[in-house]
Parts: sequence; C-alpha cells; structure tokens
Amino acid sequence: MQPRKIQPRRHEQTQPRRHEGTKKILQFLTLLAGAVSLSAVGQHSATNAAELVKDPAVKAALEAAKANEAQTIADQIRFCEVPAPSFKETARGEVLKRTFEQLGLQNVRVDKAGNVLGDYPGAAPRPRLVLAAHLDTVFPEGTDVKVKREGPGNNILRGPGIGDDCRGLAVLVAIVREMKKARVQTPGSITFVANVGEEGLGDLRGVKELFGTTMKDQIDRFVSIDGTGVHVTNVAVGSHRYRVTFKGPGGHSFGAFGMANPIGAMGRAIAKINEIQVPKQPKTTFNVGRVGGGTSVNSIPFDGWMEVDMRSSDPASLAAVDASFQKAVDAAVVEENQRWGKPGMITATKELVGDRPAGSTPENSAIVRSGLETATVLGFSANLGEGSTDSNLPMSLKIPAITIGGGGRGREAHALTESFDTIDSWMGTQHALLLTIALAQR
Ligand SMILES: [Zn+2]
Repeated sequence: MQPRKIQPRRHEQTQPRRHEGTKKILQFLTLLAGAVSLSAVGQHSATNAAELVKDPAVKAALEAAKANEAQTIADQIRFCEVPAPSFKETARGEVLKRTFEQLGLQNVRVDKAGNVLGDYPGAAPRPRLVLAAHLDTVFPEGTDVKVKREGPGNNILRGPGIGDDCRGLAVLVAIVREMKKARVQTPGSITFVANVGEEGLGDLRGVKELFGTTMKDQIDRFVSIDGTGVHVTNVAVGSHRYRVTFKGPGGHSFGAFGMANPIGAMGRAIAKINEIQVPKQPKTTFNVGRVGGGTSVNSIPFDGWMEVDMRSSDPASLAAVDASFQKAVDAAVVEENQRWGKPGMITATKELVGDRPAGSTPENSAIVRSGLETATVLGFSANLGEGSTDSNLPMSLKIPAITIGGGGRGREAHALTESFDTIDSWMGTQHALLLTIALAQR
C-alpha cells in the first residue's frame, strides 16, 4: 500500500472581483440554471433537506416509511432467515434480487462477486448515488438463523445478523418501495446494491468489485446502511491482518539441540511487536491475536504461526505500524539464526489475509452535512463516528462516502444472541430515505 497523508479539504472562500458585464452574464446564467434544474422535487442543493421535506412526493414517501415500518420489520426477518455467511451469500442475494425486481427497479443484475444491483433512474445518469447494505454475516454455515420475537411488546427480535446487516437490507428495500409508490423523481440517479463480503475475511470483496470493475468511475456518492441506530460514520478505521508462518527443519529436543527454533523466532518477533510505538491520535493499534504450531513437547518444532491485526484511521500511521511489524519479524528471524549460529535456517512468510483501507470523508463535505442535516430536519439527532465498513474503500479512493445506521437499537452484533429493538425503528428508515433523496440531487 501507498503511505499517504489525509489532506484537509480546502475552502476557496475568496471571490475574484468581477466586471459589471461579467456579473450580468453570471446572473442570467444562474437564472437559467435554476429554470433548467426545476424537477418534481424542485431545485435543491444536496444539503437542502428542509426544502426537500416540503415536496409533496417526498412528504408522502416519508409518511409511508413510518406507516409501513411493520413491513420493513417483516422484510428484516425474512432476509435474516436465509443464511448468508461471507463467501456464501448467493441464497440471500437471490431473495434480494427477486425483491428488487418485484419493486420495479431497472436493470436488476448480479455482478461477478455476487453483488445484487438495481437502478432507480433520475432525470440524468449523473450524479449517481450508490446506496448499499451488505448481505453477509459472520456466522458459519449451519447456524440456526430463525428469528424469535421477545419482550413485553414483542418488540425485541433475536437472531444472528438481525441488526448487522439484515436491518440495512430491510431499510434499503423500504426506500425503494416508498420512493416508487410516491413516485419520487430525482435529478440524479440511484443504484441500490445488496453487496457481498463486508465481514471479516470477506475483506470488502463486494465493494472492491463494485468500485474496481462493476461500476468503475460511475459512482459519485456512496452510502452504506450498516447496523442500527441513527448515526453518520465518516472516518474509516483501516486494518491490515497477517498470518505469519515461521519454518525450520525441526528435530529431537535432546538429540538435535542446537538447531534454530521457529517458535523461538516467533517469540522474539512478538516481543519486538509489543514494543512498537504508535500514536494515540489518530488511534493506531496492533495485536498478536492467535498463535499456534509445534509438534510435541520433546520436539524442536518445524513450524510456528501467528495472526496479527493492525488498525488506524490514518493511512500513513497504518503504513508505519505495518512497516515496523515487518521489520520486527525479519529482525527476529535473523536473531534466532544468529543465536544458534545457523544463518538462513529459520524463514518467515507474511501472508496478508486482510486489507481494509483507512480514510475519511471531511466533516464539512456535502455528504456528511447531508447525513446530519437530514436527521435534524426530521427531528432526530445523529452523531459522527468512526468504524470499519464498506465505506472504507470509497473513502480511501476519495469518493464522498458515509455509513449510516438503519434505526432501532442493536445489541450483541456478531454474537449468536444478537438482538434488535424495533421501538421507533422507523426513524432510521425515514433518515435513510430522506438522505437518499437529498443525495440524488445535483
Ligand atoms: Zn455490518
């Protein structure tokens, strides 16, 4: 990866002085542009949510989103009861594909990675917003995915993946449904995507395919609905994950004593990794999370392995901790070989098993402001936050991107006991809906 600094967004506030004639022409052009951009939702900047909610079609869609929340919850359960471990999302993808078709999205298709796409064309193809939610879950094949209703008002849904990200999928579908029914027309276009590979070793393969091939250079704005609550994530915590394998000839612990030891080299490497200095701001971390190897207590092992995770929201800091980790492993191998006078006996291979790029979308960017303003206009409050989601990829490419919650209250994500509280969950549906319409403006 390329080490890179985050550039703060520059404000060009200063207006060049203009001649009177130029001014008149500009006034005329402004009027003309205003007339041309009149559409069913009127002329709005991407952030003018307050104006947007007065539009009759938008108003109708927002009211329906609240009124039909029971349908959204029913969809959430329906999607969740189809298993979808990362790399095995096909069955759930099929359900989403049929739903997209039934709701009348255009050009419904499945790309090479398994992402399900459907278009909601606006007056012009650009700007194009992609609204996405991920299909996959962290739960392995064979997990019981039946959703149970609990609580005094049956308001608690319990089932693996119910919030992360069946909620996102259900809200995605609710937006299509209500925009279609209310015939909301937008100047820009929207592509709805149910994507694969967000979780764990899925390693963002869905959005990597989407931005790299399927819709390369066609995405102007990206919103992922991931998880629960009403919030806006604009900082992407990136991560590098490695599996490091140390190898040597191995032998009898007594008879072959004097041989360099792969687990010895690994121990030295872990000690060095634990001494790496990282910045507190932006928070940058490392962890040796799993180790293994060896043959028996009375054998010099022929192998040892460890899994290492490093994270930061700053690409340069992530690159720096990665470089220190690489150096630690290489130096440990040399030291172990030197200790026994056996140059080259132990070797180490570092396999990159996870690469989620870091990045951020500036707080003063139009997409982040829209994310917050649409919540305010609806009477909700949304906080800014950081996370590791599908938006990591577009953020690293400097494409305006945020991740929002789908409403409700989620608990114990990634656990078999995951739950979702449906009380006032319509707020998430409304927020995502208004934001979608706001971002499909010019
Ligand atoms: Zn998720």
